[in-house]
Formats: sequence, structure tokens, C-alpha cells
Amino acid sequence: MGTEFLEFETFAFMQFVSALVSAFIAERRSGLPLFWFIFGILFGPFAVAVALTAGRRCPHCESIIPKRATVCRHCSRETHF
Ligand SMILES: [Zn+2]
Repeated sequence: MGTEFLEFETFAFMQFVSALVSAFIAERRSGLPLFWFIFGILFGPFAVAVALTAGRRCPHCESIIPKRATVCRHCSRETHF
């Protein structure tokens, strides 16, 4: 108990919040929120930064879709070039 325990608790909380934020971003951008949740637990704020850059825009409707998607889930058109 003591300071070290509190520091670990703060660290764990930070990782957990980062995981939630990463999953939320992934849900809206690149998909696979569960994968991003685990990634966030492991890497914390770093995962959030990566999640923000994941995914790409559909050339037809400008929605952000998974990098490897071949069909846009928003407009159902093919997205590979
Ligand atoms: Zn689209």
C-alpha cells in the first residue's frame, strides 16, 4: 500500500480510459472496437493517437471506413482503387 499502489491505480485508470476512447473512436472510424479496446489497455494514450489516424475516406461519400474494406458500409459502393 502507499504511493506506489496509488500510482499503479492511476496508471491502470489511464490505460482503461484510453482503451474506452480508442474503442469509441474505432467504432466511428475504422471498425473493430474490441481490438482497439485491447490495444488501448496495452498502449494507453498512444493507442488513442493511432486510432485517430486509422481508417481512410470512402472516395464516394467521404465517410471514414476500415483501411482494408472493399465495400463502403455507408454507401455500399466498392472502395478499392
Ligand atoms: Zn461510401
